[in-house]
Amino acid sequence: MIRREDSAVRPRTLAGAGGREARVWIERGSRVSFHTERPNGGGTAYWDGCSANNCVGAAAAPSQLCLRHASTAERLEHTRLAFGSSGRVPLLLSGVTITPELWDFVLSKASHDDRRFTAPLHAVGANFPFKLRLSDWTFEWSASLTGAVLEDGCEITGCTFTDHVDLDFVDFRNGPGYWRQCSFKRGLSVSYGHTSQHVAFVGCEIGADLTAQGFVADFHLDDCEVAGACDLSGSAFTLLSLSKSRIVGDLGLADLEALTVRAPGIELESASRLGPVRIKGAIDLSNAKFTNRILLDVAAEKVELSGATFRAGGRLHISSAEIALDRLLLNGPVTLSGRNGASVRSIRSADAAKLVLGSVDLSCCIFQGSHGLDSLVLEPTAVLPRSPRPLRTRRRCIADEYVWRRANARWRRSDWDLAQRDMSNADVAVELGAGEVAATYRLLRRSVESQANEPGAADFYYGEMEMRRLDRGAGGVERGILW
Ligand SMILES: [Zn+2]
Repeated sequence: MIRREDSAVRPRTLAGAGGREARVWIERGSRVSFHTERPNGGGTAYWDGCSANNCVGAAAAPSQLCLRHASTAERLEHTRLAFGSSGRVPLLLSGVTITPELWDFVLSKASHDDRRFTAPLHAVGANFPFKLRLSDWTFEWSASLTGAVLEDGCEITGCTFTDHVDLDFVDFRNGPGYWRQCSFKRGLSVSYGHTSQHVAFVGCEIGADLTAQGFVADFHLDDCEVAGACDLSGSAFTLLSLSKSRIVGDLGLADLEALTVRAPGIELESASRLGPVRIKGAIDLSNAKFTNRILLDVAAEKVELSGATFRAGGRLHISSAEIALDRLLLNGPVTLSGRNGASVRSIRSADAAKLVLGSVDLSCCIFQGSHGLDSLVLEPTAVLPRSPRPLRTRRRCIADEYVWRRANARWRRSDWDLAQRDMSNADVAVELGAGEVAATYRLLRRSVESQANEPGAADFYYGEMEMRRLDRGAGGVERGILW
């Protein structure tokens, strides 16, 4: 939540994760002061104020006027100094309400045709009442827009920022903040950035750390490459999107709140820990690649890990969620421990040889097509479904048998209903053969035998025999049709 008051100059109060507040505002005294407050810290910056009425812009001319209120001659003199001083004199726009005309003037003086901005840009607490658009510019020095208000957001394409870019506390007010194919050579900071829309970095390269602590609203980092760490701690995201981004350093998610996290295809090169993090809805880590051995500590409604690769294995501590592990690829051992009713929906076509499943509900888990099931470890705390009550022996079975029988059984089909799950497994049922279910049982039997779990082995043996018998039956019918 963002609260904007009218009593001070451009004040906002952000309600971040866990109700922790951050504030930003400007005060006019003998000098202009710009304040930020965040949990465990804050800061103040000062500048000489413009002498025009009620203006909090930084004085940039001998007349003590800001660039907006200064005469054309004074504007020319300031831009000449800034763009000709090899970084010693910043282009001073802090606190200024920048008109489109002033911004065009600055850009026209920065460069005639090669779009190089050759001065540090100081636009702390500035106000851009228009959509800030830039394409193919190179900023040769740092750009600081801390606490600036971009009233209609921004659209920045193909720009290179040679030095650090500071967007902390920026209010992307009524339009999205959109950065496409930009390069931030020395890192980027968007901490306590906020918007009523969303802020998106798409196809960007961040040559050092990316810091977006305490961010409020939607944040996208899609198809990006971050050479350093990515710190998103304390943020309150409605949607966090990290699709297909590659992050070389750590991914910090401490105290983060999010309704939804979409990170399909994310690559984490050196992170050894993800979480603990609590997500209200789903977290999509499908086709994610974890290079380092990783501890994934997540509470969510759904955890999608289909097609994920664990190059050095890891541990998954997953609470509450329905988990998808289809097409999982494991180059090292992975242990899944569930809590608070976590359940696995499917490990179809997964690489199960290095997988250990404990304290997790497998009542509805489809095993079809998994590799290495004879080496899968099912700990005694893993819950498998029992065969339906009308049967005399209530053996432990697998959901694959339920699905097959629900679709194919001649008698008592309705007994084989996994009530707690919408059996939208029609696609599974069509492909699944009784012989395949029998083979799955055989492999699972071998795995529990090797763990000296005799009663479990007996159940799976029974299941295997039953499914073989049914397979022969089905085969007979098929042969009959062929004849
Ligand atoms: Zn002024």
